[in-house]
Amino acid sequence: MNNRVHQGHFARKRFGQNFLSDQYVIDNIVSAIHPLPGQEMLEIGPGLGALTEPVADRLDHMTVIELDRDLAARLETHPKLGSKLTIYQQDAMTFDFAELAKEKGQSLRVFGNLPYNISTPLMFHLFSYTNAISDMHFMLQKEVVNRLVAGPNSKAYGRLSVMAQYYCHIIPVLEVPPTAFRPAPKVDSAVVRLIPHATIPYPVDDIRILSRLTTEAFNQRRKTIRNSLGHLFTPEQLTELGLDLSMRAENISVEQYCKLANWLSVNRASQKAEQE
Ligand code: SAM
Repeated sequence: MNNRVHQGHFARKRFGQNFLSDQYVIDNIVSAIHPLPGQEMLEIGPGLGALTEPVADRLDHMTVIELDRDLAARLETHPKLGSKLTIYQQDAMTFDFAELAKEKGQSLRVFGNLPYNISTPLMFHLFSYTNAISDMHFMLQKEVVNRLVAGPNSKAYGRLSVMAQYYCHIIPVLEVPPTAFRPAPKVDSAVVRLIPHATIPYPVDDIRILSRLTTEAFNQRRKTIRNSLGHLFTPEQLTELGLDLSMRAENISVEQYCKLANWLSVNRASQKAEQE
């Protein structure tokens, strides 16, 4: 049998289609998500419904976003699910999560076995809606989960760790082997829970500055910050901000990155004012 065909559907690589087929793993994920009636559950990439069915069993209604037109059409006529689902046949990368939360009058619980090819940009898109989201559960490449939860002074700690931890408290939930999927992916997977902070612990004035600063620091992660951030800060300024000049990008905590970003916002604003 062609192992790309699952339940009569030919799995499309370009949509990152690896369907969950291990009932034990599916049950564990649904228990971790713990959907309750009355909650606004939103699934990204329901596919053939492996998670959708057991989640919808516990609810009267739920919302799904599925890019693949054939799969969206299958869900629409699904005997058990059809009447319970609101289906958006569109790209989750362009979905307005705040608009849906506003329409529903409550924050969203988002989950999904994400297409791995777009999981990082999709999470960045979701981070801009954390005010509208109460929690997220995602199946990701295990390596991405390791990066999400990594703390300073480790190899996995990078821009994704800083930006994700800026917005969310992050808890790894369970590891999943390739054999739990059809077709089997080449990498190990893991489920992670992301809970947006009720109050951002180290708020920044301008998130774009934090984003740019972390990109620049981690693009040159082998260099000391004296060199990698030398075009933004003088050595004296870095020292005044409490940093050791021999530190590298991976030694700087989320709190310290936020402090640097805020220093840049204030100083940029005053430089601009001086020029005017
Ligand atoms: N939830 C199903 C499961 O666990 O078996 C399918 C998971 S599969 C890894 C990813 C799903 O996301 C597929 O159904 C795919 O068509 C859908 N998808 C891919 N890119 C998408 C996008 N940009 N927006 C929404 N759905 C997308």
